[in-house]
Order: sequence, then C-alpha cells, then structure tokens
Amino acid sequence: MFIPQLEDLGDVKGKTVLVRCDFNVPITKKENGEFEIVDDFRIRSSIPTLKWLVDRGAKVIACSHIGRPHGKADPDLSIAPMAKRLHEYLPEVEVLENLRFSKGEEENDDAFVKELIKGVDLYVDDAFGAAHRMHASIVGPPKYLRSAAGRLLAKEAQVLSSLLEAPERPFVAIMGGSKVSDKMGLIKAMLNKVDSLILGGGMAFSFLAATGHSVGDSMVEPDEFDTCRHLLDSTNKIILPVDCVALGADEKFGRECQSGKAEDFDGDIPSGWKGLDIGPKSSGMFREVIMNSKTILWNGPLGVCEDPRFSAGTLAVATAVAHFGGFSVVGGGDSAAAIEQAGLAKYISHLSTGGGASLEFLENGDLPGLKALRESPT
Ligand code: AMP
Repeated sequence: MFIPQLEDLGDVKGKTVLVRCDFNVPITKKENGEFEIVDDFRIRSSIPTLKWLVDRGAKVIACSHIGRPHGKADPDLSIAPMAKRLHEYLPEVEVLENLRFSKGEEENDDAFVKELIKGVDLYVDDAFGAAHRMHASIVGPPKYLRSAAGRLLAKEAQVLSSLLEAPERPFVAIMGGSKVSDKMGLIKAMLNKVDSLILGGGMAFSFLAATGHSVGDSMVEPDEFDTCRHLLDSTNKIILPVDCVALGADEKFGRECQSGKAEDFDGDIPSGWKGLDIGPKSSGMFREVIMNSKTILWNGPLGVCEDPRFSAGTLAVATAVAHFGGFSVVGGGDSAAAIEQAGLAKYISHLSTGGGASLEFLENGDLPGLKALRESPT
C-alpha cells in the first residue's frame, strides 16, 4: 500500500509542520494534585518523527487528543503533563492543547481544520492509535496540505500489511477480551488469513455455549450464537479452551474488589459459576500451538487479567508469544500492557501503539487516516 513518507515532503527547512501525535497515555492524579504519567511508550514512540523534522530545520507543532473531554476544556485532561515529558526529549517542539477540548475535532468540522492549519505549511500524521477515527486532525489537514505519514504510523501500517499479505506460516491469531460482538468482524476476517485462531477471554464462552456446553454464569451473548455455530461448522481453524478458572455466585472480581476462591473446571462449568480465565490445560494446549507457529498476532486478554486470580492464562500466552522464536505482533490495549508488565516487550517483534486501530486495519485492510494521506496533494 502506498503511503507518502517524510521524504516525500521535500525540503522542510524553515517550514512549519503540524504533526498529529498520539500522546493519549495513562495518567494518575497524585494526592498533591500533580499528574503522573504511568507509561510514556506512546510519547517516546513519537520522537523519531519529531526529531527527524527538528533536525532538518522545521518548526514543529505537535497536537494530540487526551481522553474524552467531549468538546469542553477539562483541566484533568490537559496535555500539559505530556508536553512536559516530551520537552525532556525535544524542547524545541510546540505542543497544542488537547484537540478534543474543541467539539470540532470529533465532529470533523472543516472550520476547526482550517483553524488548526493556519500558518502551517506541511502536515504529518504519526498518530496510529487514532488513525481509525474520522476526526478533524486526522482526515482534515491532508485535504489542504502536502502530507506524509510519520515513522510510527508508516511502521505500523507496514507491519500489519505484511501480516495480511504474506505472513510466514503457520500463522496463528490469538484473540481474547470481553465481548464477542465487538470482534466478530475481525474473527471472520482473520479466519480467511490464519492457519489457526485461538480464542479465549469472555468471547470464548459464546462459542462454547453455542455448541451445547454448559458455561454456568459466564459472559455470553446469545445473539451471536448462530454466527458462532456457523463459524465452527465451516472451519476447523478455531481452537477453544478446554478448561477454565471460575468464581462462584455473588463473589467479586476485578482490579478493585476481590472475594471468594477461584476453582478450576474441566469442560463444563456448573451453574452459578463464572469462567474468568482459561485453565492450565488450555494454557498448555495454546502454548503448543504457539510454539509450532512462525507468525503470531495477539489481541485481547485470555481472562480477567487485572485480577491476579485470573491472570495466569494471559501470562502463559504472553510468555509463549515472547519465546516462540517467530514474528510476533501484539495489538495495543490489555495484551500489550500484559507484555509490558511481565517485562517481555523486548522479545516481541512489534508491539502496536493502537488497539482499536490495529483491529480495524486487520479487519478492513485500510484506515481513514491512511486513506486521507494517500489522497492528499503530496
Ligand atoms: P476487550 O476490551 O474486548 O479487549 O476486553 C478486555 C477486557 O476483557 C478486560 O478488562 C478483561 O477483564 C475482560 N475479560 C477477559 N476475559 C473475561 C472473561 N472470561 N469474562 C469477563 N471478562 C473478561
């Protein structure tokens, strides 16, 4: 897929360049009211592009959204802590306030685009994590300015395209997370590409229930049962868990509040119990498949990994993906966080900065942000 690169911008010396970054990083507010950045991976990932431009004499203006302020200024979602962190690396870069403080950003308002590009000569999109959004700062500037993809966006697009076009086989996708309905489009798209599709997390229970297994009170979406059954009938690529770790009725789970004792169940789950992680047999079985593959794509936790009683399955998969020896791509979100927390990031071939964007790219083979760049007057 052709995407204009930084080199296609021509000489940037003396030019004002607007760079759409993704500085939407996790932050916490300390007791003294100061903000602390929990993980600055996305900020650090923007540096190669910003530095490339600064080193060549461009005047660089970076912009990003932070959280969901819904078109209103919100001091808790100011970009100031991110700008401060960026300035530790690159003090020359001007940083605009949170784009979503203005309604025009999410509404893709042309007047807002024109305001944003006033006095700007060139546009660079390096915000992979937001490239699936039809928002003003993503799809607007390329209509008016010579534009290019930054290094991060270009790399993400290139890696994901290579998975879709020519993966080394066996190519195995691992998908987890909560709702099967959110990822059904992706499941169908990936079944056309992969040799095996491992399913875990809440979404696996709809597949199990659809084929007559008792899943107790586990998360299921009955509206999806027909589709699940149809997919299982039409392919033998889907690999489902064979055991699980479950919690009894009325017990609490999650990051904040935990009660009750988790128990392992082989096969069916008794009524009243909720399956919240894959069990040890499934972990071993998934590990075997992963170890025998050449390319892995992983998105979504295999259980409620934010609760330590249900994190073993996700950790086992993270460890196998880190060590299987082939080409590994981990989509953003919880699976990327699990890899980081386990200190395994250095063993992953490509850790994506964008969960939603990587899923949408894999499902549709394109993103609004990439299309806008291709159609810009570069
Ligand atoms: P997603 O945003 O769809 O990737 O889902 C991530 C969420 O799925 C995490 O917050 C997990 O707690 C949740 N999750 C994973 N496995 C299960 C499960 N078996 N039951 C309920 N929620 C789950």
